[in-house]
Amino acid sequence: MADTHPEPLSDPISGHCLCGSVSITLEGARPEVDICHCAMCRRWGGAFFGGLKGSGFSVSGQEHVTSYRSSEWAERAFCKQCGSNLWYRFLPGDLHSFLAGLFDLPADVDASMGIEQQIFIDEKPCWYDLAQDSQKKTGPRKTGAQIIAEAKAAGFDIG
Ligand SMILES: [Zn+2]
Ligand SMILES: [Zn+2]
Repeated sequence: MADTHPEPLSDPISGHCLCGSVSITLEGARPEVDICHCAMCRRWGGAFFGGLKGSGFSVSGQEHVTSYRSSEWAERAFCKQCGSNLWYRFLPGDLHSFLAGLFDLPADVDASMGIEQQIFIDEKPCWYDLAQDSQKKTGPRKTGAQIIAEAKAAGFDIG
């Protein structure tokens, strides 16, 4: 997982759920989206998961957040008022990946966004493809077996 990453954004970005009960501020956000095509993410969100990570975050409206323990190593949070999905939390590393669609990105940031990687590419259905015109924008493509092996190699206990 030691691919090179672009510089984090200097300004925090903010986002909110559909109804506005939950707001999220993400600091040190990386200007790249982490994509997961796995069957669980697709069932959860309707299609692929696109997440943003940062060096820190704050959440307001925490009382409106419910989490679903979707596997031994992860939980998925959503707003119990409007049902918007909010984040995926990888429990062994306490890593949060926030749904990219929650955030209102400044135009220059939006224009510079790339794809960090596409994981569980082997579970991607045929009806969509994230076709962009460079390797940087498309990101590496990894199968489920590859990403699980990477997580284990990084020392995470995921069974
Ligand atoms: Zn809401
Ligand atoms: Zn997934």
